[in-house]
Amino acid sequence: GMMKQYEGFTWEQLVERKKKVERKYEIYKNKNFNLDMSRGKPCVEQLNLSNEMYKLGASLDFISEDGVDCRNYGLVDGIVEMKRIFAQILGVSEEEIILGDSSSLSLMYGTIEKAFIHGLYNCEPWKNLKKIKFLCPSPGYDRHFAICELFGIEMITVPMKEDGPDMDMVEKLVAEDESIKGIWCTPIYSNPTGVTYSDEVVRRFATMKTKANDFKIFWDVAYIVHHLYEEQKLLNILDECKKAGNPDRVFIYISTSKITFPGAGVAAMACSVDNARHLRKLISIQTIGPNKINHLLHARFFRNADGVKAHMRKHAEILRPKFELVNSIFEKNLGGLNIAQWTKPKGGYFISLDVPEGCAMEIVTKAQEAGVKLTPAGATFPYGKDPYDKNIRIAPTYPPVEELEQAMEILCTCIELVVLDKILSDGKDSI
Ligand code: PMP
Repeated sequence: GMMKQYEGFTWEQLVERKKKVERKYEIYKNKNFNLDMSRGKPCVEQLNLSNEMYKLGASLDFISEDGVDCRNYGLVDGIVEMKRIFAQILGVSEEEIILGDSSSLSLMYGTIEKAFIHGLYNCEPWKNLKKIKFLCPSPGYDRHFAICELFGIEMITVPMKEDGPDMDMVEKLVAEDESIKGIWCTPIYSNPTGVTYSDEVVRRFATMKTKANDFKIFWDVAYIVHHLYEEQKLLNILDECKKAGNPDRVFIYISTSKITFPGAGVAAMACSVDNARHLRKLISIQTIGPNKINHLLHARFFRNADGVKAHMRKHAEILRPKFELVNSIFEKNLGGLNIAQWTKPKGGYFISLDVPEGCAMEIVTKAQEAGVKLTPAGATFPYGKDPYDKNIRIAPTYPPVEELEQAMEILCTCIELVVLDKILSDGKDSI
């Protein structure tokens, strides 16, 4: 838990401080700011890093390595040179990869939909079953939870620890409840906590005994190459699952959304050869093929996984100052007050901020009223409800540095405003 809030302040000092904070807030409000920090989007400078791809496009021959004319129909799961790049990044083989169009979220949705309607490889369709439950390590990615809500999957919140989800709880739950069919994981630079799962956590996922013989892990490595500092490594879960005799347990998702363009990148999934063959068959009814010209452009632009790595170092140059700015503004305004804890991620797209219990929603509302749009409080939990109302997701990538600085100063003021209000209304005896 947190230490005593405003340690060392007298009642009179707190009253004085609240007046100052209120004045500051009124000034901000009158400035009519319009600052958006609600979603983890790349900024314009990041997008510009990939414009060169379209210069290549001007002289493109359109023919893939295998001699396929990418302008035409065919190849339901994409071209081999782009599969190879993802395969290198993920440490899997090309046969274990399925390429899609730009969105990995769409591939995740598609897997869940197929699991319900047609059934995954060797599995009964979930629509035939009375109840389906998923484990949801939280705080987590709101769009994973939204898919569960849409399909009527009951979500069970699992707390996040320093090295991954609470695995004692995960193992216990999956061992006793056959209706628990899946879990969402963002195992590297997790959205929003920045946590990377330890090797032990990955091994426990691969080896754990599950009551359901069709239990699936949805392993979303959206940020696997998004290092801000030195590279962090994630143990290869498909390998571990094979070693443990559970090769069909995991589906891995990745995309170039935050490598090239979120609106026009390439997404991929990886899974066992059996899973992949089964999915390809279903997908081939759904489509004659994805945008292979875009696959080819990406493959020519990067050449190989090293090309991707070099490109990601340019992203890091742009993003590192933004993450460090957020940290320094928190430190300057809130350091030592014991009213906030925030993560210092080594990669990914988010900073996770914890404020005192019962304050997050009000802080986000106050910020909104002062022109700073944040991710809705609660969004990082199943059903959009944070049981403690204390987590706020900070997305520092998109705004220009000056706007980010302004937005963070306002946020810090809102935090103090709400927390001081609570403390003072609790009365003198509470401090
Ligand atoms: N997974 C995670 C963990 C994300 O944070 C995001 C984007 N915010 C996505 C997936 C979306 O991926 P895509 O653009 O490939 O659909």
